Amino acid sequence: MHQDRNNYKKIAVLGGGESGCGAALLAKKHGIYAFVSDSMTIKPAYKTDLTDHHIDFEENNHTESLLATFELIIKSPGIPDNAPIINFLRGKNIPIVSEIEFGYWFTNATLVCITGSNGKTTTALLTGHILETAGLDVCVAGNVGQSFARQLSISDHDYFVLEISSFQLDDIRHFKADIAVITNITPDHLDRYEHSFDKYADSKFRILNNQTDQDAFIYCADDTTIISRIAGRKISAKQYPFSLKPYEGIEGGAIHEYNIIINIHQNTLTMTLEQLALQGKHNVYNSMAAGISAKLLQIRKESIKQGLSDFQNVAHRLEYVANVHGVSYYNDSKATNVNSTWYALENMQRPVVWIAGGVDKGNDYTDLLPLVKSKVKAIICLGLDNKKLIETFGSLVDQVYEVRSMGQAVMVASEISSNDDVVLLSPACASFDLFDNYEDRGIRFKEAVKSL
Ligand code: ADP
Repeated sequence: MHQDRNNYKKIAVLGGGESGCGAALLAKKHGIYAFVSDSMTIKPAYKTDLTDHHIDFEENNHTESLLATFELIIKSPGIPDNAPIINFLRGKNIPIVSEIEFGYWFTNATLVCITGSNGKTTTALLTGHILETAGLDVCVAGNVGQSFARQLSISDHDYFVLEISSFQLDDIRHFKADIAVITNITPDHLDRYEHSFDKYADSKFRILNNQTDQDAFIYCADDTTIISRIAGRKISAKQYPFSLKPYEGIEGGAIHEYNIIINIHQNTLTMTLEQLALQGKHNVYNSMAAGISAKLLQIRKESIKQGLSDFQNVAHRLEYVANVHGVSYYNDSKATNVNSTWYALENMQRPVVWIAGGVDKGNDYTDLLPLVKSKVKAIICLGLDNKKLIETFGSLVDQVYEVRSMGQAVMVASEISSNDDVVLLSPACASFDLFDNYEDRGIRFKEAVKSL
């Protein structure tokens, strides 16, 4: 436990969502006065939470004069660093930390922390599953499930597997990962980083802050952004790269013929690619990252193999939905950026009817061009503004359709697909133009497919 937990008696939490409420509950549990302030309306469930715990809050406003009286500010990840309230509080020299930093002060758990552009949730849940299979007291939290602070307000655990976004890393101070994983770094959320890929990538590398030579850093060695950044900095943690390249005896993960090899301290674990529960190249990476983490925690090979082979895929991530009249339908609604869609298309072995589109976050589609050319027979654009998709892919694909609802999208897909085709929802875009979120989009897709 970090001594900072004793330094503050009165804190304000900015943001009344999952992280903010979690932080307030944790503070309350430890006898620290917490006040929650949100510039928007707080969701009813969180409001009930706060009221039930007698935590004061304000919504639709940040009262600057009041917030300026607190000793510490906990900032929710949704609040950008350039928000006026942040500038104001920094101007008053009030320390600002993130919710994961605050949570860190209240536990001695071993932390496996997973960040990256894609694959965080999958890798976190897979790692948690292996640790659970091995009988450890583990909890998966952070960006997936409940926030770290909320979990700690309920109960502590021996191990936490934390899915961590770059936003959560932006305001850490002492937070230290025993095992840090960077799955990959590809463009996403650049709007929050002044449209600078460098700044976004730097924020992911903050997961290495405070690590010592007793800690581990696991990363994808096939990712050129990660490799070039490693070259330019001093890294204290011991490094365990994973790669789809042939095994050459280095510590980490690699491929030997049709097997994955995980080598830690010259003790190797081998599994055939077929044995992995999660298929596709991207999932080989995720399985390696989870397997290396587990091996570093000295989990027996049998448990690791079992966990990697009986894990149930997470919904909306290249999720097989059904086969209708010989056509297979896949729900990859969580593919909200270009790189995740790249892996989905790469994984497809049959002609693809591709449902794409939504809110474009400044996408550069260049990497998709060869895959679309060779695999996609039709594109169904599902968004309010489909201009960029049509301009980019219109000349490569014979059939391009525009639709405004999931029902229409699936209807068109079923009409134009023939035996042995694949219908893939992998939007490469956010969902907010037509749906509540990516889950809503995926659920509607599955409903539409099931009603065919
Ligand atoms: P995150 O939590 O980082 O958003 P998810 O595990 O939810 O990642 O997966 C998001 C999307 O990225 C899905 O479409 C999934 O199929 C794809 N994906 C999963 N792992 C990887 C990976 N290692 N590289 C690229 N794409 C991936």
